[in-house]
Amino acid sequence: MPLARSVVRQLAAEHGACLRPVQLRRTDVHTGQVEQVLVPCGHTLASVCAPCAERAKALRAAQCREGWHLDREPVIDPDDPDDWQRWLVEKRAETQADRDGAGDQGEDCAELDALNGELDEEITRAGLRGNVLPARPARRHRSTRRRQDAPDLPRRKVTARTVGKTYTAPDGTTFRPSMFVTLTCPGYGRVGSDGTPAEPDSYDYGRAARDALHFAALFDRFIQNLRRFLGYDLQYFAAVEPQRRLAPHIHIAIRGTVSRAELRQVLAATYHQVWWPDTSVVHYRDDELPVWHEASGNYLDPATGEVLSTWDDALDAIGVDDEPQHVARFGERFDAQGVLAGSRDANRCIGYLTKYLTKHVADCHQADTDEQRGHADRLAAALRYEPCSPTCANWLRYGIQPRNARAGLRPGWCKGKAHRRECLGYAGRRVLVSRKWSGKTLADHRGDRRAWLMDTLGIPATDPARYRWELVSPGDLDHMPPAQRMLHVVADRIRWQEALAEARRRAGPIASPHLSATGRAA
Ligand SMILES: [Zn+2]
Ligand SMILES: [Zn+2]
Repeated sequence: MPLARSVVRQLAAEHGACLRPVQLRRTDVHTGQVEQVLVPCGHTLASVCAPCAERAKALRAAQCREGWHLDREPVIDPDDPDDWQRWLVEKRAETQADRDGAGDQGEDCAELDALNGELDEEITRAGLRGNVLPARPARRHRSTRRRQDAPDLPRRKVTARTVGKTYTAPDGTTFRPSMFVTLTCPGYGRVGSDGTPAEPDSYDYGRAARDALHFAALFDRFIQNLRRFLGYDLQYFAAVEPQRRLAPHIHIAIRGTVSRAELRQVLAATYHQVWWPDTSVVHYRDDELPVWHEASGNYLDPATGEVLSTWDDALDAIGVDDEPQHVARFGERFDAQGVLAGSRDANRCIGYLTKYLTKHVADCHQADTDEQRGHADRLAAALRYEPCSPTCANWLRYGIQPRNARAGLRPGWCKGKAHRRECLGYAGRRVLVSRKWSGKTLADHRGDRRAWLMDTLGIPATDPARYRWELVSPGDLDHMPPAQRMLHVVADRIRWQEALAEARRRAGPIASPHLSATGRAA
């Protein structure tokens, strides 16, 4: 007989209800009435919550579609902040003051830093753009001299225009094509159709690892070059995914068009130099690691007691004649096609762009054979000791103290996301969207869907200032265990879906192009 609880789970999934709803207590500040509200967890990975991940994917597809073929400049007119946003920023100001005070006293700020980080995330989730604090300016500006082997690009002044050119056909119809481009990493050795190298011994795992680590920076560089080359503020919606050989590649929806020849020229001139200290020589193996000296806050050589070079000193020691630690480039092979608004091609490409968003990078291609498992193992091994950032513990292996060195760092055990098996070296965001794509944040797009739903159901908008919200924790009297929450959520979904179907019947055929027919709204 099926287990009752797994049937509830199954039902929830079928109805698109969140599998791990969060319980909030909502108090009406006018009447004092208290209600329990269950909100979806909003996770983007299907392995955690499939219905929420599907919804997140649909939202990304809507965002992608909305910005791709815009024929007018998007209006970016920020709304006044609401009470919740204002409260978050005030709270953030308080914790920053606390943190700086504690820092001045020489106290441990780790917890306050973590709190600030969480608040920053919450501020972004609340739909505010940018960060409260600008990123700290780099202490030094390294030379960005061009490499000899990189061809120069003609540079135009970048105008504020973000929409592409229009073309007029002989019959007078005008159209504004956009582009779908796929960029890949270079080759590291011949691979078979299963993605594994023909000769594992000569496959360049080190280079593959570094290219993956710096892939996001390289893409940034590419967009900058393309904008300067084309002379306008080109906009994109891009998704990063692994290929079968486990190297990242990127699908990019671009507003406007670029010729293949132009793309080839920009790609050839695009590289990202990593001006980090040299890692070609291992100074300390795992059995003779540098030791932490608490009193001075430094790592010392285990044999001589000498202080290891600090991060800043190691950077200063890079001379004008030195080579960068790594130069990342895209592969020569790329894919580019023109796409027209509303065409079947456009839908197919949006499918590509969002296909793997609900999966971890490493789960996109399952390893089925020993060769594939071996390939993944060797890449993970190469990533293990590769420094992922200036604060990476792996720098100790190369005789350098990482930035912000502290006790307990061990090469090979850095907590950075890039080293994790499921990330394959790429720790950045899976979806990269330029600021003037649709002129909206993801929160705006979510708001659009909610407004559409409320409107369809004829529910008047509520005043957000009317309610006070609190998170219900397990110790509270009104706390609902997960199984009970799920039952409520399933009942709610069924009620909503019936109401929505009824509203649709009443309204006749209504246009709701951004919502699928299954009613996965809100
Ligand atoms: Zn969920
Ligand atoms: Zn690391």
